[in-house]
Amino acid sequence: KDLLLQYLLDFRREVKPSPQGPATMVFADELQAAIISELIEVWYQPQIDVATFQLVGIEALARWQHPEKGFIPPNIFIGIAEKYGMIQQLTDSVLKQSIKQISEWNKMGFDISLSVNFSASGLCHLDIPEVLHSTLRNSGLRPDHLTIEVTESALPKDTSATLDILTRLRLKGFGLSIDDFGTGFSSLEQLRLIPFTELKIDRSFVHHASDNKASQAILESSISLAKRLAIHCVAEGVETQEDWDLVASLGCDIVQGYFIAKPMPAAEFVPWVRQYSKKHRAKS
Ligand code: C2E
Ligand code: MG
Ligand code: MG
Ligand code: MG
Repeated sequence: KDLLLQYLLDFRREVKPSPQGPATMVFADELQAAIISELIEVWYQPQIDVATFQLVGIEALARWQHPEKGFIPPNIFIGIAEKYGMIQQLTDSVLKQSIKQISEWNKMGFDISLSVNFSASGLCHLDIPEVLHSTLRNSGLRPDHLTIEVTESALPKDTSATLDILTRLRLKGFGLSIDDFGTGFSSLEQLRLIPFTELKIDRSFVHHASDNKASQAILESSISLAKRLAIHCVAEGVETQEDWDLVASLGCDIVQGYFIAKPMPAAEFVPWVRQYSKKHRAKS
Protein backbone atom coordinates (compact mmCIF):
# COMPACT_ATOMS: atom_id res chain seq x y z
CA LYS A 1 0.00 0.00 0.00
CA ASP A 2 2.86 2.36 0.93
CA LEU A 3 4.62 1.47 -2.30
CA LEU A 4 1.57 2.38 -4.33
CA LEU A 5 1.22 5.69 -2.49
CA GLN A 6 4.89 6.42 -3.07
CA TYR A 7 4.48 5.62 -6.75
CA LEU A 8 1.54 8.01 -7.06
CA LEU A 9 3.47 10.75 -5.30
CA ASP A 10 6.53 10.23 -7.49
CA PHE A 11 4.34 10.42 -10.54
CA ARG A 12 3.44 14.01 -9.70
CA ARG A 13 7.02 14.94 -8.97
CA GLU A 14 8.70 17.29 -11.35
CA VAL A 15 12.33 17.64 -10.56
CA LYS A 16 13.76 20.97 -11.59
CA PRO A 17 16.96 22.56 -10.43
CA SER A 18 16.35 25.75 -8.46
CA PRO A 19 18.68 28.76 -8.76
CA GLN A 20 20.43 27.74 -5.54
CA GLY A 21 21.87 24.77 -7.38
CA PRO A 22 20.97 21.30 -8.54
CA ALA A 23 20.59 20.03 -4.98
CA THR A 24 17.37 21.98 -4.57
CA MET A 25 14.40 20.32 -6.19
CA VAL A 26 10.88 21.49 -6.66
CA PHE A 27 7.96 19.09 -6.50
CA ALA A 28 4.51 19.42 -7.95
CA ASP A 29 2.85 18.37 -4.69
CA GLU A 30 4.90 20.95 -2.79
CA LEU A 31 3.78 23.63 -5.22
CA GLN A 32 0.14 22.60 -4.82
CA ALA A 33 0.46 22.96 -1.05
CA ALA A 34 2.21 26.31 -1.44
CA ILE A 35 -0.58 27.70 -3.63
CA ILE A 36 -3.24 26.55 -1.17
CA SER A 37 -1.45 28.00 1.86
CA GLU A 38 -0.74 31.26 0.01
CA LEU A 39 3.02 30.91 0.01
CA ILE A 40 3.04 32.30 -3.51
CA GLU A 41 3.77 35.96 -2.99
CA VAL A 42 3.52 38.79 -5.46
CA TRP A 43 6.44 41.13 -6.13
CA TYR A 44 6.03 44.34 -8.09
CA GLN A 45 8.14 46.03 -10.75
CA PRO A 46 7.54 49.69 -11.68
CA GLN A 47 6.74 50.90 -15.20
CA ILE A 48 7.78 54.45 -16.06
CA ASP A 49 6.51 56.87 -18.72
CA VAL A 50 9.59 57.73 -20.78
CA ALA A 51 8.48 61.28 -21.59
CA THR A 52 7.44 62.40 -18.09
CA PHE A 53 9.38 60.01 -15.77
CA GLN A 54 6.04 59.37 -14.05
CA LEU A 55 5.28 56.02 -12.48
CA VAL A 56 2.35 54.72 -14.54
CA GLY A 57 2.03 51.09 -13.58
CA ILE A 58 3.44 47.96 -12.00
CA GLU A 59 3.79 44.38 -13.15
CA ALA A 60 2.85 41.67 -10.68
CA LEU A 61 5.40 38.84 -10.63
CA ALA A 62 4.88 35.62 -8.71
CA ARG A 63 7.46 34.51 -6.14
CA TRP A 64 7.34 31.29 -4.20
CA GLN A 65 8.56 31.80 -0.71
CA HIS A 66 9.78 28.36 0.20
CA PRO A 67 10.43 27.90 3.93
CA GLU A 68 13.81 26.19 3.35
CA LYS A 69 14.76 26.96 -0.22
CA GLY A 70 14.07 30.70 -0.15
CA PHE A 71 12.49 32.65 -2.99
CA ILE A 72 11.96 30.53 -6.05
CA PRO A 73 11.41 32.46 -9.29
CA PRO A 74 8.51 31.74 -11.64
CA ASN A 75 10.48 30.20 -14.49
CA ILE A 76 11.04 27.27 -12.11
CA PHE A 77 7.40 26.72 -11.15
CA ILE A 78 5.04 28.25 -13.77
CA GLY A 79 5.67 25.34 -16.15
CA ILE A 80 4.90 22.84 -13.38
CA ALA A 81 1.70 24.69 -12.49
CA GLU A 82 0.66 24.59 -16.16
CA LYS A 83 1.49 20.92 -16.60
CA TYR A 84 -0.34 19.73 -13.47
CA GLY A 85 -3.47 21.86 -13.83
CA MET A 86 -2.71 24.34 -11.06
CA ILE A 87 -2.22 27.45 -13.18
CA GLN A 88 -5.77 28.70 -12.72
CA GLN A 89 -5.43 28.54 -8.93
CA LEU A 90 -2.07 30.27 -9.13
CA THR A 91 -3.37 33.06 -11.38
CA ASP A 92 -6.36 33.53 -9.06
CA SER A 93 -4.05 33.86 -6.08
CA VAL A 94 -1.81 36.40 -7.86
CA LEU A 95 -4.86 38.37 -9.03
CA LYS A 96 -6.45 38.36 -5.59
CA GLN A 97 -3.32 39.61 -3.84
CA SER A 98 -2.32 42.17 -6.46
CA ILE A 99 -5.79 43.68 -7.01
CA LYS A 100 -6.17 44.13 -3.26
CA GLN A 101 -2.73 45.72 -3.12
CA ILE A 102 -3.16 48.10 -6.04
CA SER A 103 -6.54 49.22 -4.80
CA GLU A 104 -4.90 50.16 -1.47
CA TRP A 105 -2.14 52.04 -3.27
CA ASN A 106 -4.60 53.84 -5.51
CA LYS A 107 -6.60 54.86 -2.44
CA MET A 108 -3.35 56.42 -1.16
CA GLY A 109 -3.40 58.55 -4.30
CA PHE A 110 -1.03 56.76 -6.67
CA ASP A 111 -3.35 56.14 -9.67
CA ILE A 112 -1.31 53.37 -11.28
CA SER A 113 -2.32 50.40 -13.36
CA LEU A 114 -1.59 46.75 -12.70
CA SER A 115 -0.26 44.22 -15.21
CA VAL A 116 -0.77 40.52 -14.49
CA ASN A 117 0.67 37.62 -16.49
CA PHE A 118 -1.75 35.02 -17.80
CA SER A 119 -0.76 31.64 -19.17
CA ALA A 120 -2.69 30.63 -22.24
CA SER A 121 -3.74 27.45 -20.43
CA GLY A 122 -5.28 29.71 -17.78
CA LEU A 123 -7.43 31.42 -20.39
CA CYS A 124 -9.97 28.66 -20.84
CA HIS A 125 -12.82 29.64 -18.54
CA LEU A 126 -15.32 31.55 -20.61
CA ASP A 127 -16.53 33.61 -17.65
CA ILE A 128 -13.11 35.18 -16.90
CA PRO A 129 -14.09 38.63 -18.25
CA GLU A 130 -17.24 38.78 -16.10
CA VAL A 131 -15.52 37.48 -12.97
CA LEU A 132 -12.63 39.95 -13.35
CA HIS A 133 -15.01 42.79 -14.05
CA SER A 134 -16.92 42.30 -10.82
CA THR A 135 -13.73 41.67 -8.78
CA LEU A 136 -12.35 44.98 -9.99
CA ARG A 137 -15.57 46.89 -9.41
CA ASN A 138 -15.73 45.57 -5.85
CA SER A 139 -12.20 46.91 -5.30
CA GLY A 140 -13.12 50.36 -6.60
CA LEU A 141 -10.88 50.07 -9.67
CA ARG A 142 -11.67 50.84 -13.30
CA PRO A 143 -11.16 48.08 -15.91
CA ASP A 144 -8.36 50.11 -17.50
CA HIS A 145 -6.46 49.76 -14.22
CA LEU A 146 -5.82 46.12 -15.16
CA THR A 147 -3.75 44.86 -18.08
CA ILE A 148 -3.61 41.18 -18.92
CA GLU A 149 -0.20 40.16 -20.29
CA VAL A 150 -0.12 37.11 -22.53
CA THR A 151 3.08 35.69 -23.91
CA GLU A 152 2.59 35.23 -27.61
CA SER A 153 4.56 31.98 -27.72
CA ALA A 154 2.23 30.55 -25.09
CA LEU A 155 -0.93 31.16 -27.08
CA PRO A 156 -2.47 27.90 -28.21
CA LYS A 157 -2.77 26.82 -31.82
CA ASP A 158 -6.53 26.56 -31.57
CA THR A 159 -7.25 30.15 -30.69
CA SER A 160 -11.04 30.28 -30.97
CA ALA A 161 -11.83 30.06 -27.23
CA THR A 162 -8.82 32.18 -26.27
CA LEU A 163 -9.66 34.74 -28.93
CA ASP A 164 -13.22 34.90 -27.64
CA ILE A 165 -12.09 35.48 -24.04
CA LEU A 166 -9.45 38.05 -25.00
CA THR A 167 -11.87 39.97 -27.20
CA ARG A 168 -14.48 40.11 -24.44
CA LEU A 169 -11.82 41.22 -21.93
CA ARG A 170 -11.00 44.06 -24.32
CA LEU A 171 -14.71 44.92 -24.73
CA LYS A 172 -15.00 45.19 -20.94
CA GLY A 173 -12.23 47.78 -21.03
CA PHE A 174 -9.26 45.80 -19.72
CA GLY A 175 -5.81 46.33 -21.20
CA LEU A 176 -4.31 43.48 -23.25
CA SER A 177 -0.57 43.20 -23.67
CA ILE A 178 1.41 40.96 -26.01
CA ASP A 179 4.33 40.02 -23.75
CA ASP A 180 7.86 39.07 -24.86
CA PHE A 181 7.03 40.41 -28.31
CA GLY A 182 9.37 39.12 -30.98
CA THR A 183 10.28 35.78 -29.39
CA GLY A 184 7.35 33.68 -30.64
CA PHE A 185 6.70 32.28 -34.06
CA SER A 186 3.46 34.06 -34.82
CA SER A 187 3.70 37.51 -33.25
CA LEU A 188 2.38 39.32 -36.27
CA GLU A 189 -0.56 37.01 -36.74
CA GLN A 190 -1.47 37.37 -33.04
CA LEU A 191 -1.31 41.14 -33.42
CA ARG A 192 -3.71 40.94 -36.33
CA LEU A 193 -6.18 38.60 -34.60
CA ILE A 194 -6.21 39.84 -31.02
CA PRO A 195 -7.23 43.40 -30.06
CA PHE A 196 -4.08 44.16 -28.05
CA THR A 197 -3.70 47.57 -26.38
CA GLU A 198 0.00 47.17 -25.64
CA LEU A 199 3.06 45.68 -27.27
CA LYS A 200 5.76 44.66 -24.82
CA ILE A 201 9.12 44.17 -26.48
CA ASP A 202 11.12 41.24 -25.15
CA ARG A 203 14.17 42.21 -23.14
CA SER A 204 16.50 40.27 -25.45
CA PHE A 205 16.02 43.06 -28.03
CA VAL A 206 16.37 45.85 -25.48
CA HIS A 207 19.39 45.30 -23.25
CA HIS A 208 22.66 46.11 -25.05
CA ALA A 209 20.72 46.99 -28.20
CA SER A 210 22.93 50.05 -28.73
CA ASP A 211 25.82 47.76 -29.72
CA ASN A 212 23.77 45.41 -31.86
CA LYS A 213 22.50 46.49 -35.25
CA ALA A 214 19.96 43.67 -35.53
CA SER A 215 18.45 44.34 -32.09
CA GLN A 216 18.24 48.03 -32.93
CA ALA A 217 16.41 47.32 -36.19
CA ILE A 218 13.94 45.01 -34.45
CA LEU A 219 13.43 47.53 -31.65
CA GLU A 220 12.86 50.35 -34.08
CA SER A 221 10.37 48.35 -36.19
CA SER A 222 8.49 47.09 -33.13
CA ILE A 223 8.08 50.62 -31.78
CA SER A 224 6.87 51.96 -35.12
CA LEU A 225 4.56 48.96 -35.49
CA ALA A 226 2.98 49.82 -32.12
CA LYS A 227 2.62 53.44 -33.24
CA ARG A 228 0.95 52.42 -36.51
CA LEU A 229 -1.46 50.23 -34.54
CA ALA A 230 -2.01 53.09 -32.10
CA ILE A 231 -1.21 50.94 -29.07
CA HIS A 232 1.20 51.47 -26.18
CA CYS A 233 4.74 50.30 -26.47
CA VAL A 234 6.66 48.99 -23.45
CA ALA A 235 10.34 48.07 -23.40
CA GLU A 236 11.25 45.50 -20.77
CA GLY A 237 14.79 44.79 -19.58
CA VAL A 238 16.09 48.37 -19.61
CA GLU A 239 19.19 47.89 -17.48
CA THR A 240 21.41 50.88 -18.25
CA GLN A 241 21.35 54.56 -19.16
CA GLU A 242 22.30 53.56 -22.75
CA ASP A 243 19.29 51.20 -22.95
CA TRP A 244 17.04 54.00 -21.66
CA ASP A 245 18.48 56.59 -24.08
CA LEU A 246 18.05 54.30 -27.06
CA VAL A 247 14.43 53.32 -26.42
CA ALA A 248 13.61 56.94 -25.53
CA SER A 249 15.14 58.21 -28.78
CA LEU A 250 13.12 55.63 -30.73
CA GLY A 251 9.90 56.92 -29.20
CA CYS A 252 9.00 54.05 -26.87
CA ASP A 253 6.25 55.07 -24.39
CA ILE A 254 6.95 53.04 -21.26
CA VAL A 255 10.01 51.44 -19.75
CA GLN A 256 10.45 48.64 -17.23
CA GLY A 257 13.77 47.25 -16.05
CA TYR A 258 16.54 47.04 -13.47
CA PHE A 259 17.68 50.56 -14.46
CA ILE A 260 14.53 51.84 -12.74
CA ALA A 261 14.01 49.10 -10.17
CA LYS A 262 14.06 45.34 -9.74
CA PRO A 263 10.82 43.61 -8.75
CA MET A 264 10.22 44.20 -5.03
CA PRO A 265 7.96 42.90 -2.27
CA ALA A 266 4.84 44.98 -1.54
CA ALA A 267 6.30 46.39 1.69
CA GLU A 268 9.17 48.04 -0.18
CA PHE A 269 6.99 49.69 -2.80
CA VAL A 270 5.74 52.85 -1.05
CA PRO A 271 9.21 53.78 0.30
CA TRP A 272 10.57 53.20 -3.21
CA VAL A 273 7.97 55.51 -4.78
CA ARG A 274 8.72 58.26 -2.23
CA GLN A 275 12.44 58.02 -2.94
CA TYR A 276 11.92 57.86 -6.69
CA SER A 277 9.70 60.97 -6.77
CA LYS A 278 12.17 62.90 -4.61
CA LYS A 279 15.05 61.99 -6.92
CA HIS A 280 13.01 62.78 -10.01
CA ARG A 281 11.82 66.15 -8.63
CA ALA A 282 15.42 67.05 -7.83
CA LYS A 283 16.37 66.31 -11.46
CA SER A 284 13.63 68.37 -13.09
P1 C2E B 1 7.76 38.45 -17.97
O1 C2E B 1 6.30 38.58 -17.84
O2 C2E B 1 8.36 38.81 -19.29
O3 C2E B 1 8.37 39.35 -16.80
C1 C2E B 1 9.56 40.08 -16.88
C2 C2E B 1 10.71 39.30 -16.28
O4 C2E B 1 11.92 40.00 -16.56
C3 C2E B 1 10.64 39.17 -14.76
O5 C2E B 1 11.26 37.96 -14.42
C4 C2E B 1 11.51 40.35 -14.30
O6 C2E B 1 12.06 40.16 -13.02
C5 C2E B 1 12.58 40.31 -15.37
N1 C2E B 1 13.21 41.62 -15.55
C6 C2E B 1 12.65 42.84 -15.47
N2 C2E B 1 13.53 43.82 -15.75
C7 C2E B 1 14.70 43.19 -16.03
C8 C2E B 1 16.00 43.69 -16.41
O7 C2E B 1 16.26 44.88 -16.54
N3 C2E B 1 16.94 42.74 -16.62
C9 C2E B 1 16.71 41.40 -16.49
N4 C2E B 1 17.70 40.55 -16.72
N5 C2E B 1 15.48 40.91 -16.14
C10 C2E B 1 14.50 41.81 -15.91
P2 C2E B 1 10.58 36.92 -13.40
O8 C2E B 1 9.88 37.65 -12.31
O9 C2E B 1 11.60 35.91 -13.03
O10 C2E B 1 9.45 36.24 -14.30
C11 C2E B 1 9.76 35.44 -15.39
C12 C2E B 1 8.52 35.08 -16.18
O11 C2E B 1 7.65 34.23 -15.44
C13 C2E B 1 7.66 36.29 -16.52
O12 C2E B 1 8.24 36.96 -17.63
C14 C2E B 1 6.33 35.65 -16.81
O13 C2E B 1 6.30 35.13 -18.12
C15 C2E B 1 6.33 34.49 -15.84
N6 C2E B 1 5.51 34.85 -14.67
C16 C2E B 1 5.83 35.60 -13.58
N7 C2E B 1 4.78 35.70 -12.72
C17 C2E B 1 3.75 35.02 -13.30
C18 C2E B 1 2.39 34.76 -12.93
O14 C2E B 1 1.87 35.22 -11.89
N8 C2E B 1 1.64 34.01 -13.80
C19 C2E B 1 2.16 33.54 -14.98
N9 C2E B 1 1.36 32.81 -15.78
N10 C2E B 1 3.42 33.76 -15.36
C20 C2E B 1 4.22 34.50 -14.54
MG1 MG C 1 4.98 39.94 -18.25
MG1 MG D 1 7.92 40.02 -20.76
MG1 MG E 1 9.63 37.34 -20.30
